[in-house]
Amino acid sequence: LRRNPGEVEFHQAVREVFDSLAPVLAKNPQYADAAVLERICEPERQIIFRVPWVDDSNRVQINRGFRVEFNSALGPFKGGLRFHPSVYLGIVKFLGFEQVFKNSLTGMPIGGGKGGSDFDPRGRSDGEVMRFCQSFMTELYRHIGEYTDVPAGDIGVGGREIGYLFGQYKRITNRYESGVLTGKGISWGGSLVRTEATGYGTVMFAREMLKTRGLELEGQRVVVSGSGNVAIYAIQKAQQLGAKVVAFSDSTGYVLDEAGVDLDLLRQIKEVERGRVDLYVERRGSAKLVTGGSIWDVPATVALPCATQNELDGDAARTLLANGVLAVAEGANMPTTPDAVAAFQEAGVLFAPGKAANAGGVATSALEMQQNASRDSWTFEHTEDRLEAIMTGIHDRCAATADTYDRPGNYVAGANIAGFTKVADAMIALGVV
Ligand code: NDP
Repeated sequence: LRRNPGEVEFHQAVREVFDSLAPVLAKNPQYADAAVLERICEPERQIIFRVPWVDDSNRVQINRGFRVEFNSALGPFKGGLRFHPSVYLGIVKFLGFEQVFKNSLTGMPIGGGKGGSDFDPRGRSDGEVMRFCQSFMTELYRHIGEYTDVPAGDIGVGGREIGYLFGQYKRITNRYESGVLTGKGISWGGSLVRTEATGYGTVMFAREMLKTRGLELEGQRVVVSGSGNVAIYAIQKAQQLGAKVVAFSDSTGYVLDEAGVDLDLLRQIKEVERGRVDLYVERRGSAKLVTGGSIWDVPATVALPCATQNELDGDAARTLLANGVLAVAEGANMPTTPDAVAAFQEAGVLFAPGKAANAGGVATSALEMQQNASRDSWTFEHTEDRLEAIMTGIHDRCAATADTYDRPGNYVAGANIAGFTKVADAMIALGVV
């Protein structure tokens, strides 16, 4: 705490992982001997930089850029960039720390990192976003590379931003180094299924959890928070598997649509028009907008928080429990507060932590790196099959690890322990570096 003052989200993320590790440390004294815990929560490298750019009114704007290269024991640093006004070092470090264990769980050869900026893309023109991205990359390019650090998207960073970032990287370095960024467009080195992967994977994980209780996703009533990349494709996969999705949100409020979400309309508004959720309500008679309330007041048997950290608190958890929720899977990173997680676990509700449930996104990024390295591009079906196998594998590994450590059904413990041991063993094998 003294070393990282004021970084509350980072403290929360570290505590949540360390809380699970006591039985592992008791069985494996080599981790304490090699100071693995001390080393694993200290990033290998942290970069903070000025991002100057000129807005459409010819005014100079200054933002702050970050890249935290957390752990490269398993492979090059890998993790997204977040552009949101709330971004500061504590958020980037919490995300980078989570990423280390998530990437380990995927079974792919990738280390963990994260970055971003306090730049707010909302309300900015395409030209402004491009100039910002170019300035951001003008510093970042010297720190990243196919074998060093491979950024991707996150909140506020989608295909448009990755395009501008890649264009500037290519220009500065004079290299068409496809593997330096993931989330690229399909015609210039991207992978099919990457856009869908995080949301799809979250729903696949929820399906696997339900199976352990003899339940199916078909017929479940689902609430999904957010309406960005993760939320949209969680809604799509849930609908494909026969569930009914009745609510989604953005920072304006939440939309309740008892007729079931019209995904084509939502995608048109969010992906094409870059509009807000109130537009959906204007165009859809069955929907109503609720501002000032909590989306978790909407009764659901499956809840998928897919917006941002700490969006589902203890009160929200108790409301969901009173309304009969059966399963919660985190599409976002750390959206559920610790007291809410405890409430779900005490009530015996199936609960999937983000580092396991939303790992499909980064896993498919690693598949994009594979395709780039072999100068190949796979079909949608093949890539989705790989994603299926990866998500089922993560689910089974978390469940089996929880069993081994006498915490059956505890996916938080299973994910933390399985993610940790693989990284810890690699760190010991590589020596004190
Ligand atoms: P997007 O920017 O596409 O969408 C974010 C959504 O969440 C928007 O609807 C946004 O609403 C809402 N939101 C964000 N911040 C807040 C806030 N402070 N209060 C209320 N609503 C908010 O991001 P993604 O869908 O990519 O990311 C969502 C979550 O999933 C994040 O936690 C991210 O770290 C995590 N994640 C993403 C992955 C990916 O592949 N994209 C991979 C793994 C995890 P508004 O537009 O109004 O701000």
